Amino acid sequence: MRGSLVASMVFAPIAALGPPHASPPSATRVVMLGTGTPNADPERSGPAVAVVVGDAAYLVDAGPGIVRRAAQAARDDSIRALEPERLRRVFITHLHSDHTVGLPDLILSPWVLGRNDPLDVFGPRGTKRMVDLLERAYSEDVQIRLHGGEPSNKTGYAAVAHDVGAGIVYRDSNVTVTAFNVAHGKWDQAFGYRFATRDRVVVISGDTSPSDAVIAACNGCDVLVHEVYSAERLRTRPPEWRQYHAAYHTSTDQLAAIATRARPKLLVLYHQLYWGDDDAALLRQVRAKYRGNVVSAKDLGVY
Ligand SMILES: [Zn+2]
Ligand SMILES: [Zn+2]
Repeated sequence: MRGSLVASMVFAPIAALGPPHASPPSATRVVMLGTGTPNADPERSGPAVAVVVGDAAYLVDAGPGIVRRAAQAARDDSIRALEPERLRRVFITHLHSDHTVGLPDLILSPWVLGRNDPLDVFGPRGTKRMVDLLERAYSEDVQIRLHGGEPSNKTGYAAVAHDVGAGIVYRDSNVTVTAFNVAHGKWDQAFGYRFATRDRVVVISGDTSPSDAVIAACNGCDVLVHEVYSAERLRTRPPEWRQYHAAYHTSTDQLAAIATRARPKLLVLYHQLYWGDDDAALLRQVRAKYRGNVVSAKDLGVY
């Protein structure tokens, strides 16, 4: 076997990986690649967000459909950074399956489509193990593509996993990425991420119950992308689910209080649990207690 599919590295406090692409400075954009949940809604791919700076994309989470949605944004919105062969790095918030089942897609599909570079995967404890196991799961495929006559490149199949802790986890000429701990039920490690670029600060909550860490990370940030469920419809859920959601997630009422303190220039509702509500209903609930700018994201929304 030629080398190891996965080179691994335990906690790099700052992974100085060099500039991703020589690109002119340009405005930072937030592209919603998937706003869904475990519900198999065909209009909403699994959770994934791209922070785009010039020709570089910084992905957060890898829900199902991530590579196809990225390709769609590249084609329809001319966002070259989201062409499959440019997908070079992903920051995982936590290891719930809805946030990670797109990971083998993100490791392997862009390679088949011509990406030469390995994928860097940053995430909480257990990320390296997950990537190692994916290496093993797909080893037959990799061997055939490398040695079975397919004109493949011999480098882009690799993934480099980094188990990280809270703090600065990545820095290059475009961005400084900071992970912060959030409370997500019984998970002992779940992150939100803060991206500071030349022109913007973007904070992505990850999955979380109301967390002061989100407020501290945002503190007047440009864009706060935050998960949410309908407070009104929670009442229609069975008691055991109500208890679960209170421990693991954030209601529209709670998010209004968080946003009031975090003061983002734009609040983006994400990973929405509607239970029969729609975007207008979620926005109405948030706006009843929050006076700032707020939108409810759809897939391929750009902010
Ligand atoms: Zn979760
Ligand atoms: Zn989730």
